Amino acid sequence: MKVAVVKESAPGERRVAVVPETVPRLTQAGLEVLVEQGAGDGAWFPDSAYSKAGASIVKTDDLYATADVILTVTRPDETQVGRLLAGQTVIGMLSPLIEPALAATLAGKGVTAISLDGLPRTLTRTQAMDALSSQANVAGYKATLIAAGAYGRFFPLLITAAGTARPAKFLVLGTGIAGLQAIGTARRLGAQVSGYDVRPASKGEVESLGATFIELTAVSDGAGQGGYARELTAEERQAQQAELTAHIARHDVVITTAQVPGRRPPLLVTEDAVKAMAAGSVIVDMGASALGGNVAGSVPGETVVTENGVTIIGAQNLPSSVPTAASNAYSRNISALLLSMVTDGALVIDPADEVQAGVVVAHDGQVVHPAVAKLLRPADRTGGADDVDRAGN
Ligand code: NAD
Repeated sequence: MKVAVVKESAPGERRVAVVPETVPRLTQAGLEVLVEQGAGDGAWFPDSAYSKAGASIVKTDDLYATADVILTVTRPDETQVGRLLAGQTVIGMLSPLIEPALAATLAGKGVTAISLDGLPRTLTRTQAMDALSSQANVAGYKATLIAAGAYGRFFPLLITAAGTARPAKFLVLGTGIAGLQAIGTARRLGAQVSGYDVRPASKGEVESLGATFIELTAVSDGAGQGGYARELTAEERQAQQAELTAHIARHDVVITTAQVPGRRPPLLVTEDAVKAMAAGSVIVDMGASALGGNVAGSVPGETVVTENGVTIIGAQNLPSSVPTAASNAYSRNISALLLSMVTDGALVIDPADEVQAGVVVAHDGQVVHPAVAKLLRPADRTGGADDVDRAGN
């Protein structure tokens, strides 16, 4: 079976789905690995490293004409989709709950679509395949570095002959995978770190990193299903925002990561909270999206400086800005998933398998993932991904 690694098509995307180090794992399983010319350039993996590892470097046309399985990081663009042939399989982070139309197009072409976003994340055997976690980890690290770069003072306590600098007061709102990595990175830089999350279980994780956990009276238990947060009621949201404002005002740097599966990111830092911060403060909104983010006034991919001197950075595709580390991790994730589906050198689709039920989106000409299929039925559509959770229920 020929497995092909494509050059990513999304603007500015620097990651690559498979790194040279992983190639032998695939070839040892009886797979032939093709790599599109220059696929690893953005992550500093030259073609020569892939050749040395046992892959063949191929031209784009040859890749699409001969591959059985195509491995990608993000969704293929229109041109790439146009090149796909019936019987081929695409594996990547295809975001089918955000863009169900792509799943329908691939199904219509007779292409099997497998998306790492749908992976059941709590099973022991899926830990090595969890690309959402590995990329969130990279993003959390980079968010702290971006904040440090935009902040006009030091993060650590510094005592020098020219005076003493107090440590930065650093707050993370939403302490899941990305938030905990942001906390760990800020601690290593010497900041004075606090964290907050609606899930009470998060307290121990925050404290184990040496940070202070902020407890609010507004929401006693915001835990939802599967270890994720639930959507708060309107009253809870308002009370949470009001109570958070006082905490936000006494911090120099705030990083927000809050997400609720299948819903718009919750607003945690209101306009009033931004106004209450001192000039020179920095906010990085990792929830920034076209639908709105965790911070009032944040714009994805842009840096906004408010009238009162607060810098609000709308983060966008942070993993791509740490391309080598992000690709290394993703490569292990996608290879583990692929190899779990290969028997005797061939891909075996088994809808009865718990992992495959989560990741196989289109197969045999049909959109087989129930939650994606539901989004494609006009009568059932109630506002895009707003009515499904990440596991597709
Ligand atoms: P996520 O990206 O969905 O959300 C980020 C964080 O935002 C979460 O911690 C969430 O609780 C928080 N949040 C949501 N709404 C909020 C609000 N209104 N106010 C404050 N915080 C809010 O989450 P994630 O990082 O993907 O993972 C969340 C949890 O799932 C973690 O506990 C993680 O350990 C767990 N998880 C477990 C496994 C596993 O069992 N192997 C795998 C992946 C994730």
